[in-house]
Amino acid sequence: MAQGYKELGLKVGLEIHQELATSHKLFCNCSPRLFREEPEYTFLRRLRPTQSEMGEVDPAALFEFQQGKTFLYEASRETDCLVEMDEEPPGPLNSEAVDICLVLALMMGSRPVDEIHVMRKTVIDGSNTTGFQRTCVIALGGEITVDGKQVAIEQICLEEDAARKTGESGALMQYRIDRLGIPLVEISTAPVITCPEESGSVALAIGRILRATGRVRRGLGTIRQDVNISIKEGALTEIKGVQQLDLVSKVVEYEVQRQRRLLDIREELRKRGVTKEDLREEFSDVTEVFSETKCQVIRSSMKKGGRVYALRLPHFAGLVGRELCPGRRLGTEMADRARFWGGVSGLFHTDELPSYGITAEEVAKIREAVGAGGDDAIVLVSSEPQKCRNALQAVLERASEEVEGVPSETRGPNPDGTTHYMRPRPGAARMYPETDVVPVTVTPNRLEKVRRSLPEMPEEKLSRLITEFNLNRKLAVQILDSDYLDLFEAISRETKVPPSLVAVTLTETLKSLEREGVKVEALTEENLREVFLSIDKGLLVKESVPDILTWLASNPESSALEAIKALRLELLSQEALWEIVRGKVKENEELAKRMGLRAVGTLMGAVMREVRGRARAEDVQGLVEKALKEILGA
Ligand SMILES: [Zn+2]
Repeated sequence: MAQGYKELGLKVGLEIHQELATSHKLFCNCSPRLFREEPEYTFLRRLRPTQSEMGEVDPAALFEFQQGKTFLYEASRETDCLVEMDEEPPGPLNSEAVDICLVLALMMGSRPVDEIHVMRKTVIDGSNTTGFQRTCVIALGGEITVDGKQVAIEQICLEEDAARKTGESGALMQYRIDRLGIPLVEISTAPVITCPEESGSVALAIGRILRATGRVRRGLGTIRQDVNISIKEGALTEIKGVQQLDLVSKVVEYEVQRQRRLLDIREELRKRGVTKEDLREEFSDVTEVFSETKCQVIRSSMKKGGRVYALRLPHFAGLVGRELCPGRRLGTEMADRARFWGGVSGLFHTDELPSYGITAEEVAKIREAVGAGGDDAIVLVSSEPQKCRNALQAVLERASEEVEGVPSETRGPNPDGTTHYMRPRPGAARMYPETDVVPVTVTPNRLEKVRRSLPEMPEEKLSRLITEFNLNRKLAVQILDSDYLDLFEAISRETKVPPSLVAVTLTETLKSLEREGVKVEALTEENLREVFLSIDKGLLVKESVPDILTWLASNPESSALEAIKALRLELLSQEALWEIVRGKVKENEELAKRMGLRAVGTLMGAVMREVRGRARAEDVQGLVEKALKEILGA
């Protein structure tokens, strides 16, 4: 397979964005926390970039701007101030964040710059109140070793994170600005990755280095990877914002498949003799055909005064409906464009008709109306006339790109690893200096200080986990990649609980509870620590841990002791246990006399069924042996 990818000329580069765990934001003293409560205040803005800035704006952003979008920003006093509101210039660059980036640079052999200059990068999708994102290069070059291969690092940048979108209705976009200004490191690799599996491994390796600093934020959304993918004869596609690490290789695999099948369609179009000139801007109003239609979508659109427009795609029959990736067709790509540029909810194409309540008779009438032959495809949209024309214009554009091959796009990931259209790829030169922030000199002194306290590299840490805590390799890797690595080390040092039990609980047990629907993310580190302390003190048996964690996940404010009490999992006193054991052995006196000491196993099973979770197996065994000996008079 890897050989196959090589022949396809696959090249993948990664940009990993990770939020840093600093005490305050990048350019102000606000708390880098995301609030879940209602916002304390909101404000409205329309972004108005100046003329010179507009010149460098990418077409999609410009389009959004021209749509007259208004932005509603939600804020709280703890997480936001006048800097996020763009009412006050930014403060000095957060030196804690710079130090973390320097640590990362030295860990990856990247060369720190002498002086850090903050730049502005134009963004007018509203995700930043200023209309730009602040970013600075911290280090250049470097490499990491992944499965024996040297992977070149291009650069390490420090950026401010953007506001997070919380809603959209019509021309109003809603953003929460708590995330705006949280320090974000961006690590870019060279496009040297050559197969899907390797892209996953490189993302994992960089993620491990980031976590090894102990200075990064955790949880979904705190790490996001952009994946740049190209194949020979294809185009550079940028897939933005993949949040799950295990999705990276899937995204690459599907993108290669998508580009190959798009190229197959291009070949087919060439065979059919289609050129760009065949694609004409002829949008026909075919509303009349649908006056009696049973198609719900069209009927409800027409009820609101909408019309139905058709576009003929000459010689495209059978190609619009051809699958590119699971559930994604060329028609899906056209629909993405129609939604983005036309604001329509979707489209129909003749490769999938008759269906959706549209009859064969209606299809025949449309074919006649637009003068389509049997090997032509037709695309239909229904909305107000201007939107219909914009949508079909975008579909025509996509069809015309198809004659050339693969368009260069920015795409977003779907949960299954396939992708959807986000916007065209922005042009390159979009940076200009941020004059409000003074440049920071990276002194040899500062670098030396960072160098002296570099954290362990992930491979060293892995070997240490194996030797110091006597873990097998698989378990050591699991705990290395877990959010609970530090907690694991702390618990294993402060208690006598076997480290392998701690590691299994913090990885496999939590994962399987999560699969059962337990809200494990509600568990605090304190909850987890207490559970192990209880085992250490002999208050709890390890078999009860899943039940205790399940209970605590719904009562995270409670203590492990309260959980033990609520679930009646307090250990029996030795006296009480002895009474139960002696009773059980008496009950089975006959068996005991017949089998002698060999009855231990059977009797132990009987007692355990009664005291599960309330007694340690080794205690039960000792007492059963003692009671047996008593009855046998041994
Ligand atoms: Zn602030």
